[in-house]
Amino acid sequence: MRAADDLMTELRAVVGDANVVTDRAVVAGYTTDWTGRFHGDTPAVVRPGTRDEVAATLRACTERGVAIVLQGGNTGLVGGSVPLHGEIVVSLRRLDALGPVDARAGQVTAQAGVTLARLQAHARAAGWEYAVDLAARDSATVGGTIATNAGGLHVFRHGPTRAQVVGVEAVLASGAVVGTLDGLEKDNTGYHLAGLLTGSEGTLAAVTAARLRLVPRPRNVVVALCAFDDVEDALDGVAVVRREIDTARAIELFFQDGLDLVCDRLGLARPFAKRHDAFVLIECAGRTDPAPALAAAIESLAAVRDVAVATDDRTARRLWRYREAHTEAINLLGPPHKLDVTLPAGALGGFVARVRQRLRELVPSAQVWLFGHAADGNMHVNVTGVAPDDDSVTDAVLRLVVEMRGSISAEHGIGTAKRRWLHLVRTGDEIAAYRAIKRALDPAGVLNPHALLPGP
Ligand SMILES: Cc1cc2nc3c(=O)[nH]c(=O)nc-3n(C[C@H](O)[C@H](O)[C@H](O)COP(=O)(O)OP(=O)(O)OC[C@H]3O[C@@H](n4cnc5c(N)ncnc54)[C@H](O)[C@@H]3O)c2cc1C
Repeated sequence: MRAADDLMTELRAVVGDANVVTDRAVVAGYTTDWTGRFHGDTPAVVRPGTRDEVAATLRACTERGVAIVLQGGNTGLVGGSVPLHGEIVVSLRRLDALGPVDARAGQVTAQAGVTLARLQAHARAAGWEYAVDLAARDSATVGGTIATNAGGLHVFRHGPTRAQVVGVEAVLASGAVVGTLDGLEKDNTGYHLAGLLTGSEGTLAAVTAARLRLVPRPRNVVVALCAFDDVEDALDGVAVVRREIDTARAIELFFQDGLDLVCDRLGLARPFAKRHDAFVLIECAGRTDPAPALAAAIESLAAVRDVAVATDDRTARRLWRYREAHTEAINLLGPPHKLDVTLPAGALGGFVARVRQRLRELVPSAQVWLFGHAADGNMHVNVTGVAPDDDSVTDAVLRLVVEMRGSISAEHGIGTAKRRWLHLVRTGDEIAAYRAIKRALDPAGVLNPHALLPGP
């Protein structure tokens, strides 16, 4: 008790009374994840406002062996951002400085708490674009997207977050500050800490700032929604778009049942009079108008049954809503099991059929919702109507994915939700190497100790 009181006193001295939050009503916003599936509790939420306050906070916790969960926007979907074992929450959201765009380098420096939406608007105003985009853009932070190596809508064109990170500044559990924000595109001087920390899910260090690469801002954006009779036709269409249209930057897949759910739950008009099985949403963006090339490619696809095209912002947003609102509409049914997986391109269609069948056999009362980033082979399998702590669904889906030579996490990470299954895709030697890295950077094991690595 005395040690805990001492820690609180020290943390208050570091970040100020107002930034050690213990009021239960306020703390509640930090202890449940976005899906509502993962709930925890914490003695306090600590909100440092500078890198040095982060360093002093981590040092104080490490010295006492007190576990920490780092948190950004709390939009992570694998239970990695909430204190499920009574950890202290260290929220990085107050670190929200955003530097000027470096026009010569095409880079920008952002602190960890800057939201993706703010970063995107800032880059756009300077004639550039930040390539990572996802539906949680208004809350997800630079630090959180780096910690999860977030993917999103533009991965097949620009790569995941790792491809945008030129450098990071980070604080180790000891309070030591590591990394660089100097923005050198070429710098072969030892282990690449930025690469290591990207995707480390808050287990190795707190990312406090990053130097990020920008891409040229396209002037023209066209969105098309195409309907197909089945998933194989849809995936053939995806391949043609990838081959024929160099301006394509998002190719998304969803199905009639998901579209019905979105339209019914959120009161949207249906895009087409007829019903279809599978839908592909394509976004093309370029300096010159991508519409003619997109129209020609769609024209060449005999299997397209219906098309809606948007060349203005409002209509484009309406078409995007059919895809992006899946997560929100599914959540209205109760906390879902969310399994974000990748399959080899040739296996994606077969997976769609097999996962539905396997889950029908396992839990006949469950509802299965599939949608995803088709060009990356990335399918989001969402299952509702199953108790939050029933792991049989996770087990069945992840084993099927591995059987079909895919990955159990495409872009959301391992978090606490999938750590038990990491051994399906990583060898014992690889997990031992991960543990050695963790021990080297966080010897007291205080940073997110229940995420990513399997329990002992
Ligand atoms: C509607 C919706 C759509 C989404 N779409 C996508 C998508 O298309 N692609 C995708 O990849 N993800 C998607 N996500 C998941 C989520 O938005 C991403 O994982 C995002 O990167 C999390 O950012 P965050 O700031 O909310 O991090 P949090 O949820 O707060 O944290 C996520 C993890 O990062 C760690 N962490 C957070 N900040 C730091 C830091 N500064 N330093 C070190 N560790 C830290 C946490 O400990 C935790 O393990 C979606 C989520 C929602 C709700």
